[in-house]
Formats: sequence, C-alpha cells, structure tokens
Amino acid sequence: MILPDATLGVLGGGQLGRMFTLAAHAMGYRVAVLDPDPHSPAGMLADQHIAADYRDHAALQMLGDECAAVTTEFENVPAESLDFLARHCPVRPGAEAVRIAQDRIAEKSFVRDHDLATAPFVAVYEAGDIEQGFSELEPPMLLKTARLGYDGKGQMEVNTLDEALAAFGQFGNPPCVLEERVELAAEVSVILARGLDGETAVYPVGENHHVGGILDTTLVPARIRQETADEAVDMAARLADGLGYCGVMAVEFFITAQGALLINEIAPRPHNSGHYTLDASLTSQFEQQVRCLCGLPPGDSLLLSPVVMVNLLGDLWADRAPRWERLFRQPQAKLHLYGKRHARPGRKMGHFNVLAPDLDQAIGIAERIRAEL
Ligand code: AMP
Repeated sequence: MILPDATLGVLGGGQLGRMFTLAAHAMGYRVAVLDPDPHSPAGMLADQHIAADYRDHAALQMLGDECAAVTTEFENVPAESLDFLARHCPVRPGAEAVRIAQDRIAEKSFVRDHDLATAPFVAVYEAGDIEQGFSELEPPMLLKTARLGYDGKGQMEVNTLDEALAAFGQFGNPPCVLEERVELAAEVSVILARGLDGETAVYPVGENHHVGGILDTTLVPARIRQETADEAVDMAARLADGLGYCGVMAVEFFITAQGALLINEIAPRPHNSGHYTLDASLTSQFEQQVRCLCGLPPGDSLLLSPVVMVNLLGDLWADRAPRWERLFRQPQAKLHLYGKRHARPGRKMGHFNVLAPDLDQAIGIAERIRAEL
C-alpha cells in the first residue's frame, strides 16, 4: 500500500484532477499534476504543477520519478504516454484500459465481445464502410468520430447515405462509428471503484439528464425498475472485470423505450455523473480514485441520502456572477466551484448537490435554486 505523505501524480489538471487533489490532500498525500495549462484548476491546488505537453517524455519521466503512482483524469491522454510512464512508476488504470475507452470502435467492440449490448453500429474507416452500414442498420443514425468526441461534440445525425458521406468528409475522414439512434426512455450511469485485487465497490445507478449534449442533472437513486438497476450494476462490474481494471470507472447506459439496457460509453476515471458522491456517499468517487491508486481497498459506496446534482455551466455567468447567496440560504445545498478564471458557454464551472429525505423534495429544492441563481 502507498501510504500518506507519498506523492501521487495525475495527468490532467481540470476539475476532475482538482477534486482528486482535494481528496488526496484530505487523506494526507501530496499531489503532482501534469497539465499544459499554467492556470489549470488542479495545478493551482497541487503541491507541484508540471506545465508540459502530455507527450513530453522528459516531463513524464519527472512525474514518474517523483510519484509513488500516477492516475489520469481524462481519457484523451495518449495511451503511449501511459505506457512510457509505467516504466517509471505504477499507472492505474493501465494504458490498455485507457486505450479501449478512448476509442469508440475499440470500446464498442470490447463491449460486444463481452456479450454486452450496445446500440447497433458499424466501424467506419473509409467511405465504403458507410455504404455497408446503410445496408445493415436502420436510420436515423449517428456518425461519431472514434476519438476525441465528448459532450456531444464530433457527432452528427445522418439519415441518408449522402448525409453520412458528407458528415464523414466534414470530420476529415477519421475513423468513426456509424450507429443507430435508438429511442431513449432514460440515460443512466454506474460508477464503480475496483481495487488492485479486484475488490469492487459499486455506487447506486444515477439517472442523467442532458441539455444540448451536456450533462445537466443527475438524480440518485435513478427512478428505474430494480431489475434494470441490478442489471446495469452487473454489466458495469463485468466490464471492469473484463478489463482487469484498477481505479474508478463510469459506464453510461441507454435504457431504450422497450426497456433494454445498452452500453453507450466507458470512462476510465471519475465521472461528472458521480459528483453527487462528494456529499451524499460514505466514500466519494475521488477518495475511491486515491484508494485504488494507492492499493488500498475501495471504501464503502453506501448512499447516505437521495441527492440531485446540478451542473453549473458558463452560460450562467452571461451578464453577472450567479447569486450564490440564494444557494447558500438553502441548508441542503452544497456548492462546488472549480476555480476556472473564464466562464464560456458550455464550460463546466461547478456544480451543486441537494440532499433531502426523498428525491422529489431534492428535485424541488434544486429547481428553485437553479431558477434563483
Ligand atoms: P455520446 O457522446 O456518445 O455520449 O452522446 C451524447 C448524447 O447523445 C448521449 O448522452 C445521448 O443523449 C445522445 N446519443 C448518443 N448516441 C445515441 C444513440 N445511438 N441513440 C440515441 N441517442 C444517442
């Protein structure tokens, strides 16, 4: 076990790295962050900030030599960089899991190979694959770039072959997936923490609502049938086992109008839909990330209260700072801001959690706060 006072490394200095840093500090660890942005939210709090590119081998070696172990806060760190780092210190999760999660083709193929369901899809490497896709799949469809898409970016709805070919060209002909747009009854996610020896703590299923392709609210526990929730938890745990995963992982699911569970995405890190765990769980997802990284057993993922998490996007700052005093007047609300200097539309600036004895009450309070901010 890596014990307090050791230095832990994190690749990426965004809000996830910041909340990892806060959790690590609370537990007595030091933190070094690698992120090219000199004003990154995590870099500002960390004991050390190496401002360098994720491909910079000298910087990676410095991080690896100083840290007892290194983790990542986002999946677009080049997997080769994780491989390189692993020669200098333990890296958790490992490069292979990140390599799968950062590429939609690898990810969806991995899910299918483990007998778990995804939306029907074909892998697209060239225009001919799109023609093949149109003979196998039913429109409406989505064309998604295999890499670097997030929050609805890098994807387009395509209903005809011509539209799909045009979209492919517009993306610059990168590897893509063409998938059927399924009719959604709900979107849910499962967060879990899997330790070095495979011991796994799974959080209850969260119900996610998106606006404009970006997560807006997470409600926990999700308002879905118990059998569906149990199945989602089981599917997520099977994926983590299949990956031989060590760390915190999120699995996003679609629940179709027919009630079927489809896996949409795997995130090899804590997830926005798990931010409620900061206030409503016995162990937060960021403490779990520290624990798994250090080879400690996962903490208890017990939910202490129904909770609603609301994201705060830069749009809220359009003409003035939000009226925080309104939020602070609500004793059940917990504000988390990420220390970002500039608010831009769509940029995640913070979130708040509302805890109440029942979910409907929490939803009501959260909506009141949102309207007043
Ligand atoms: P993604 O970037 O793949 O997570 O997609 C962003 C959002 O687009 C999802 O959260 C869904 O709301 C929607 N979406 C993506 N793929 C599909 C699909 N195959 N069918 C229906 N909705 C989808």
